[in-house]
Amino acid sequence: MGDLISIIVPCYNEEESLRLFHTAVKKMEKTLPDCRFEILLINDGSKDKTVEVMRELAAEDPEVSYFSFSRNFGKEAAMFAGFCNARGDYAAVMDADLQDPPDLLPEMYRILKSGEYDSVAARRVSRDGEPPIRSWFARRFYRLINRISEADIVDGARDFRLMKRDMVDAILAMGESNRFSKGIFGWIGFRTYWMPYKNVERVAGETKWNFWGLLGYAIDGIVNFSHVPLDIASWFGILMTMVSFLAIIFIVVRKLLFGDPVAGWASTACIITFIGGIQLLCLGIIGKYLATVYQEVKKRPHYIISETSRDDAKRIG
Ligand code: UDP
Ligand code: MG
Repeated sequence: MGDLISIIVPCYNEEESLRLFHTAVKKMEKTLPDCRFEILLINDGSKDKTVEVMRELAAEDPEVSYFSFSRNFGKEAAMFAGFCNARGDYAAVMDADLQDPPDLLPEMYRILKSGEYDSVAARRVSRDGEPPIRSWFARRFYRLINRISEADIVDGARDFRLMKRDMVDAILAMGESNRFSKGIFGWIGFRTYWMPYKNVERVAGETKWNFWGLLGYAIDGIVNFSHVPLDIASWFGILMTMVSFLAIIFIVVRKLLFGDPVAGWASTACIITFIGGIQLLCLGIIGKYLATVYQEVKKRPHYIISETSRDDAKRIG
């Protein structure tokens, strides 16, 4: 019996793409006759008919099983549910919109089979079809996070990757609530081969990301994989203390030499607001970490499945 490959597909409002995706995967499977496949469709609380399409696909194709969330938990949770329920020797995460071309999978599998690597991840070499401003911010973000965190996060890396069982188990062992997958993949290590490919536009439907969503995602990524913002807050504090110490000496000396005419209230007001601003900023940074800690200690489940085609599914995880 050949290797079993689990294909994990997070879906949110993908009624138009899902069938196209399924057809493309089936076509790809024929090029890997030695392997067996299971397709795990995760419905992340879609508001359209995604779950109905899933039911139909599961009825038609024994390889397909679906897991439907009780509400929208986000793509990270959907991926996690997929990993929890995957039974394969290998697991792949793939978007439903065909932006992660299934045709790359056989090549990925061959690279893993050669034994040199533990995972193969797709990396976009172009950002065609993306608004320039979004690309610019994305590049800045990758520069920044690589400088300030210990997780190695590659620019243009998508979540699309094929990995060995060992790596899936490592991902499952990362129990954090705030799941920033790009960081988790980087943090657990293993030998990853980066497979370049050209960006493809989604086949149908539209992207769920807007600018503010992505900005929030970027901030979460930093908070979860770096403590540098906290260090910056401390450095601000040290710098301000030194500056005010020098200012005190200056004022005492001036008072002794020239007396003390009442002047400079405007500059005083400026200084007060400036320091107030920095204090609030630093408090905000600390608050962000505290909120993350709060979420972690509550240990809420990452996802809740309300309907599934598989009896042995892990329904809450
Ligand atoms: N997705 C999801 N839950 C969400 C948002 C998105 O499961 O809350 C899925 C979506 O169905 C798709 C994948 O995540 O399969 C990537 O989403 P999208 O194509 O919108 O992102 P982009 O490719 O533009 O980064
Ligand atoms: Mg997409």
